[in-house]
Amino acid sequence: MDRRNFLKVSALGAAAVAVATSPLSLSAGNKPTRKIFKPGRLNLTFEPYELQLRHAFNLAKYQRTTTPGVQVRLTCDGIVGYGEASMPPYLGESVDSVCKFLSSLDLSQFNDPFRIEDIHAYMESVAPNNRAAKASVDIALYDLLGKIMGQPWYKIWGLNPENCPNTSFTIGIDKADVVRQKVDEASPYKVIKVKMGLDNDKELVEIIRSKTDVPICVDVNQGWSNKEEALEMCHWLAERNCLFVEQPMPKEMIEETAWLRERSPLPLIADEFFQRLPDVKRASEAYDGINIKLMKSTGLHEAYQMATLARALGMKVMIGCMTETSCAVTAAAQLSPLVDYADLDGNLLIANDIFDGIKIVDGKVTIPERPGIGVELIG
Ligand code: MG
Repeated sequence: MDRRNFLKVSALGAAAVAVATSPLSLSAGNKPTRKIFKPGRLNLTFEPYELQLRHAFNLAKYQRTTTPGVQVRLTCDGIVGYGEASMPPYLGESVDSVCKFLSSLDLSQFNDPFRIEDIHAYMESVAPNNRAAKASVDIALYDLLGKIMGQPWYKIWGLNPENCPNTSFTIGIDKADVVRQKVDEASPYKVIKVKMGLDNDKELVEIIRSKTDVPICVDVNQGWSNKEEALEMCHWLAERNCLFVEQPMPKEMIEETAWLRERSPLPLIADEFFQRLPDVKRASEAYDGINIKLMKSTGLHEAYQMATLARALGMKVMIGCMTETSCAVTAAAQLSPLVDYADLDGNLLIANDIFDGIKIVDGKVTIPERPGIGVELIG
């Protein structure tokens, strides 16, 4: 489908939502009657959409200037739900693999979109993995269901938006003058996230500390391989107002990470180590918390279960995102009242966002008062 048709059909969907979100209407006899949503067949459409980055992004192992993405739309009874797959290369999915998986789905067999469990079980039965592809369908489904119910998901889950945490703003590995410029850009934020894992880790923190004393979250992206050196860094970072260390060591080094956890003054958060719901219990044996991302968890359905399980296990919970439009980031924000830390700046890193959604107000995640995942297509 071309872009013009995507926008045209989307506008029709918005009109349908306006009807669906007014649950009470008056009959001829002025007696209030509840408008009931009429279940219909689910219709899935999708198109690739490449995300352009504002700055080249440097991580411990590579650099990139674009991120492949796929935009998804799920319609039922004239109501449109939006979803998105974002595929950073290290997760192993691509535009081709996502489109192939989505093409293989026959969601028209479902004539009730509230069968979330059945729809997820069906997607798992079609093919394993394909987590971002599954997430794109899940996000669109949650958007659709929230619009049918006329409420944003944080309300449907009974969460208090006042509990949304501050979000961090990420500063990648870069030259000193670029880091200084990025610290200036990050001034509206109350937490800075730093990517580490190269030789100049301490220098990076010193540069930031020369400009601001806001708390720093550290993401090592598996970059430390010596546990004694990792422990020394954890102590050094703790003395410089760092909040936690994310994925300090390679995900395979479980015993070494557990050793580090026993001694580190800072909590350790699992990211690359942790993908799906069964991994939460395993993560609790070596880490203090988990970083949930919709593109890993296959969407909101499992992400909500992960957050509640991790809390029950006494773990810290972080909600993160990939580099993606406001569509997937705002969907993730619906969970943010449940978490300790938010890293929801993925939409701010791209130059061609097509959605309006999450806002950061005074450093804090602010969820829009819109039904579903809370986004509006702005083209
Ligand atoms: Mg990470």
